Amino acid sequence: MQLQKEREQVARYCRKLSTSRLTTGTSGNISIFNRESGLFAISPGSLDYDKMTPEDIVVLNLEARVVDGCRRPSSEVLLHQMCYLARKDINAVVHTHSPKATTLAVLGWDLPAVHYVIAFGGGATIPCAPYRLFGTPELAETAVQYLDGKYGCLLASHGVLAAGPDIGHAYTLAEQIEFCADVYLRARMVGTPNILSDEQMADAIAQFKVYAKQEEADNHFVPPV
Ligand SMILES: [Zn+2]
Repeated sequence: MQLQKEREQVARYCRKLSTSRLTTGTSGNISIFNRESGLFAISPGSLDYDKMTPEDIVVLNLEARVVDGCRRPSSEVLLHQMCYLARKDINAVVHTHSPKATTLAVLGWDLPAVHYVIAFGGGATIPCAPYRLFGTPELAETAVQYLDGKYGCLLASHGVLAAGPDIGHAYTLAEQIEFCADVYLRARMVGTPNILSDEQMADAIAQFKVYAKQEEADNHFVPPV
């Protein structure tokens, strides 16, 4: 089985989607890119997430041709392919229809910096890309354009695109976008939320980088004998 490790991870994160508030039914999809082989593993279309196994995950090349797996890949395969073609720093993509973020997307609103965890997206805002038909190259191109060097955007009247250097980052970003959208909508119901300035967000992004380095050092820490 090709890309066994990536297929196991995609299946595991898909099962996580099914127990989280990030999806409804079989909507949404997840992929992981193996840059060395030029192949990516993606969830199949219309299959219950809680039953997903590594064998159900489909492996494709960067021309979006299936090279291993017996299921039909997700209908948003071009969205994932385009992220990997356009960005050398993206190795995982999580696409959801999570309800609070999709509420902003149907309004066509950007998600502003209502909370510092927006920094997971790599910028001060999660912008909303204009509507394009699902499953089309136009949607993929527009979404990647709106990422604009960052990791996340909303897709108007559709959902969320969260990407990252690895699946942990992409999935966490999808969770944080939903959290911030929830907080933003609640805050707007009772008042005017404070929006962090670009400078405050630049500080938050820098702080995340410090913590990421510390975490990496901790993971490689060898205790003295
Ligand atoms: Zn979708």
